[in-house]
Amino acid sequence: MSRLGETLELVRVDSTEKGKGVFADKPIAAGTVITDVRGEHVTFGDTTTMGERESFCVQIGRMDYILPDPPFYLINHSCEPNCGINADMKLIALRDIAPDEEITWDYSTTMLERSWVMECKCGSENCRGVVRDFDLLPEELQARYIVAGIVQPYILEYLSGKNGTTPNDPSRENPTQP
Ligand SMILES: [Zn+2]
Repeated sequence: MSRLGETLELVRVDSTEKGKGVFADKPIAAGTVITDVRGEHVTFGDTTTMGERESFCVQIGRMDYILPDPPFYLINHSCEPNCGINADMKLIALRDIAPDEEITWDYSTTMLERSWVMECKCGSENCRGVVRDFDLLPEELQARYIVAGIVQPYILEYLSGKNGTTPNDPSRENPTQP
């Protein structure tokens, strides 16, 4: 077990059966900012050469990603998350979180790339079985996440038709140009 930096004073890293995870260290009220999501900016191309670290990257634009500073990337996915990343790249609590509860977010809320997918065994009642791009989620779930304010702005632009007609196609060098 290790303490996190001052920006993460509400949580701690701990081991789980599935590897490391991040857990609440004290009660966290709904709406609390748990941490900023910051890190090195990388491109889609960079992410495809990172091996297992590819799964750490958070997509913030059609071709833009962040490789988050540790230990943000240790926060596991859940199909029934208690946190989400808002438009200002802050991880916020979606509901009250009790001490020792695992901190989770839904990786699909930042994804629109038609590349990386992840098998999911999060164990939630509504587990989707696979983590994939946001626009492939059930519409009802998309709407719930949009209302909660935890969908990346570039995805909202895409959904409203302002940002091209198809998600990223890695074979296209510049997806904004048809
Ligand atoms: Zn799941």
